[in-house]
Amino acid sequence: MLNTSPTLNLRPQRLIVLGIDGSTLALLDRPQLPNFQRVIRGGVSGTLFSRPAITPVAWSSMVSGKNAGKHGIFDFRKKMELKNSRDKRSKELWDYFPSIVINVPMTYPTRPIDGVMIGDMMTPSLDSPNAATPASEIPRLKSFGYVIEPKIDRTEISRSIEARIRTHRHYIENRDWKLFFHVFREYDSLQHFFWGQDLEDYQQLDAYLGEMLGRLQEWDARLLIVSDHGFTPVEYAFDLACFLRRLGLGEEVFDGGWGAVFIEGDNPRTRRELKHALLHELRAFHFDGRRVMDAFPREELYHGPSVDDGPDILVSPLREHGFTFGMRQQEPVERSVKKNGCHTEFGVFVLYGEGIPAGQRLAADIKDIFPTAFELLGRPVPDDGVDWHSIIQRIRGGAESQT
Ligand SMILES: [Zn+2]
Repeated sequence: MLNTSPTLNLRPQRLIVLGIDGSTLALLDRPQLPNFQRVIRGGVSGTLFSRPAITPVAWSSMVSGKNAGKHGIFDFRKKMELKNSRDKRSKELWDYFPSIVINVPMTYPTRPIDGVMIGDMMTPSLDSPNAATPASEIPRLKSFGYVIEPKIDRTEISRSIEARIRTHRHYIENRDWKLFFHVFREYDSLQHFFWGQDLEDYQQLDAYLGEMLGRLQEWDARLLIVSDHGFTPVEYAFDLACFLRRLGLGEEVFDGGWGAVFIEGDNPRTRRELKHALLHELRAFHFDGRRVMDAFPREELYHGPSVDDGPDILVSPLREHGFTFGMRQQEPVERSVKKNGCHTEFGVFVLYGEGIPAGQRLAADIKDIFPTAFELLGRPVPDDGVDWHSIIQRIRGGAESQT
């Protein structure tokens, strides 16, 4: 161990995970957000790497410590078939600790845990079976004005954040838990459609964060803020279906949406050759002197028993170059009319509380969150194929010696 920092002995405490669907250190570290700045300055923070930066995959990796080849979730759907929590192939944090779980993507249909689970954005309505477990929580959620997924409208988004804060406050105060995991999805919609106009909505959350910080000691808890991916402004939309048509590809490929390409056909050799040629075409495509996308063969992204369920190729527009996904376009690349922000692979985490060193920066991976929660809660990390290291190990400088 070369890079040894002073010993970090953490007393086990409860853990509050505040999930923001899509955020970055730059979005949180603003002078208008004093409480976010306080936890960043007073704790350990940095980028949380997320590849692919796709919401259902990323949260599933975070809460299981595994890549999609092991947890089995490659997107909200496979081809035309919708996926849900029942397609997951691995245990999650709430299988180990008494938990309150609210709105974590890919948790609908909810299932019994030691605690309360409220389903995610894919929940059809609060009256659907398994919208929450136990179902007796539903009237309470309705009384808070709880919204599953607000319309793309500034006022409705802001109201939904308010209702979410009421929900958060209620469960944190009135229930017994070791792990409290709540995802604020609203920021994803805001940043996709109203990039640059999100300050007030972050201030809403900042004010509530201040309230929580005042109670951390009394709750005997630490706070971990996480996002499933980053965000950046975009200018252009790339239509994969249009691009594939231009290449003259029809029945040989299936465009599964959001970059998932499945190669069809019975002949493995033809499929392999087509995959190879298509990867080349996708990676070589430029617009206005800029490369438009990354394209990954699935074996480069995933490993584990479920790998074959993934798309053959995953296309990811280079958001840093200004490209996002578009649909039903005349040209493969057009100016993006509706969306002005999109995901990047660099999300954020902030860990704050008793015993956490102040002001440290480090880079972590989204799969690190699972083992990190175990260390903070004072239990050994399960030995069932967890892919990454805990942030606590990284703070100690021990992660390098194990890779
Ligand atoms: Zn998004």
